Amino acid sequence: MVSGFLRAGLGLLNMAKPKVIFVLGAPGAGKGTQCQKIVDRFGYMHLSAGDLLREERAKPDSQYGELIESYIQEGKIVPVEITCSLLESAMKKSGKDKFLIDGFPRNQNNLEGWNKAVAQNVNLLFVLFFECPREACVERCLGRGAAGSGRSDDNMQSLQKRFNTYITETQPIIKYYEERNLVRTIDANTSPDEVFEEVKKVFENFEAGGDF
Ligand code: UDP
Ligand code: MG
Repeated sequence: MVSGFLRAGLGLLNMAKPKVIFVLGAPGAGKGTQCQKIVDRFGYMHLSAGDLLREERAKPDSQYGELIESYIQEGKIVPVEITCSLLESAMKKSGKDKFLIDGFPRNQNNLEGWNKAVAQNVNLLFVLFFECPREACVERCLGRGAAGSGRSDDNMQSLQKRFNTYITETQPIIKYYEERNLVRTIDANTSPDEVFEEVKKVFENFEAGGDF
């Protein structure tokens, strides 16, 4: 039996851990757009795994630059050791205590690496899942590419690969968290403001301690 004192202690320990929300969804589902709105409204720190990898790739002295670029263009998932260490150091450097981790974990290797190295040190609140049909997502990514996103993977060839990876590797991860009752699904096939109305409900409900 756990004594009241011990339980309070464990509670405190738990409170001291940084809070994490994973944000998942197909390429172009709107993860980055919505994360920015969540930051503005609810004060989380946004860490996009893809952005961190692109930043690392851009460093002239990075030993992983070429590897990252080839994985990104091929729509493949970079080995977890690289992504996890970028995420961990960004978390530490920020000095913040609540994070949106966007676009991670995306496959079994990501999940295992995270569970082994980081999971016990953070408090995973839930997984926000943006659900959006493939056609809409492709249109958004191609639009983003045409508008000058500068991303080497916003083209039809990379997009097909990214979608294959999403379906075969990321969807099982969403299922893994669904089985643990951690997934909050949002219909992302409407305008950014309409989607955010749904997102707000999830956060407000969570902050109110709603059943969840
Ligand atoms: N990526 C990765 N591991 C991650 C996140 C991203 O390897 O944890 C790579 C992967 O190749 C992916 C690309 O970065 O296709 C772009 O990811 P991002 O999340 O920026 O794209 P989005 O899904 O938001 O369009
Ligand atoms: Mg993104």
